[in-house]
Amino acid sequence: MNLCVLGSTGSIGLQTLDVVRSSGKIRITALAAGGNIEMIEKQIHEFHPSICCIYDEEKADTLRSRLRADGREVTEIVSGMEGLIACAVHPYVDTVMVSVVGMIGIRPTIAAIRAGKNIAQANKEPIVCAGHIIMPLAKEAGISFIPVDSEHSAIFQCLQGENDNTIDKIWLTASGGPFRGRTAEELKNVTVQDALRHPSWNMGAKITIDSSTLVNKGLEVIEAHYLFGVPADDIIVAVQPGSVVHSMVQFKDGAIKAQLGVPDMRVPIAYALHEKQRIAFEGKKVLGFEDLAEIRFMRPDTETFRGLKLGIEACRQEGSITTVYNAANEEAVAAFLAGKIGYTDITDGIEACMRAHQNISSPDLEEIFAAEQEAREFIRQRFHLS
Ligand code: MG
Repeated sequence: MNLCVLGSTGSIGLQTLDVVRSSGKIRITALAAGGNIEMIEKQIHEFHPSICCIYDEEKADTLRSRLRADGREVTEIVSGMEGLIACAVHPYVDTVMVSVVGMIGIRPTIAAIRAGKNIAQANKEPIVCAGHIIMPLAKEAGISFIPVDSEHSAIFQCLQGENDNTIDKIWLTASGGPFRGRTAEELKNVTVQDALRHPSWNMGAKITIDSSTLVNKGLEVIEAHYLFGVPADDIIVAVQPGSVVHSMVQFKDGAIKAQLGVPDMRVPIAYALHEKQRIAFEGKKVLGFEDLAEIRFMRPDTETFRGLKLGIEACRQEGSITTVYNAANEEAVAAFLAGKIGYTDITDGIEACMRAHQNISSPDLEEIFAAEQEAREFIRQRFHLS
């Protein structure tokens, strides 16, 4: 199988390459990254892709001349959104792992589906913002579309051998983040460093912050809604400290199926890349009796962690509001990570932005990107960011 990895220097991208190393069945045909040319140069030397995109044009030039000096010009270097799409639709590519972070993945995901590529989707935002466009398109194209987000992979796994019509409820599990049990007052003093510590998953900075505010879970409710066609009110968020139960599906007859395991993103990655086949990989960890004996569930505190409540509200409304929820969060999290706003400003900003938005049902791509710009501008003005 020939694989394209969009976002190969990020957390999911690196773990994808780990799976590729132990699989022996996957050839890397295309790689794409933002601007970390030191790391991507090593990846080129190891995997010899046909094409590689460096999103930043200047850095792409630098890499091109370095490879030329090295006498290694077999990899074509491209840049920008055009380059990202060129990687995704490259004729040799069979499957695209979409593991970029943010709305930047929307256009390449759509282009890859249109080109008939199978998709392993780790990037939430295309589903959150354009799920109403992408899911019907994937169905029409007859490609395999497998979620890589651990919860959605779990739901997908639970649905194997089942008729989709029988889903009654989705139980979307959550770790509760590092601040579970804190009061709204205590959250006000949270620092960037505090928020970057996650109790069970090892992830990138943006998603770690999102996990701590529970905005990540709000995004995942929307993601589940579009991926599996389940109404917002039939998606139950259940906090399960330790992240051992990755999610569950309840069927019409009352039976519940769950997928469990030690938190390790390589499991959903490998499952998606091997078309639902299970492979063993190096360093595999398994649950023991004590881990299973400790499992307990509780309801999330959506009054303190309003990020989740707002996500569920956006999911109920559908339309451009899901983009506003996401983009306001992206902008606010970036400002928080840069030390420009406080921790609780993130959800306050999202809420104000959603209230100000005139929702458009079934937005097209242009309307989605316009809603994104509107939300970013709203956050910048509200917090006087330059
Ligand atoms: Mg997840």
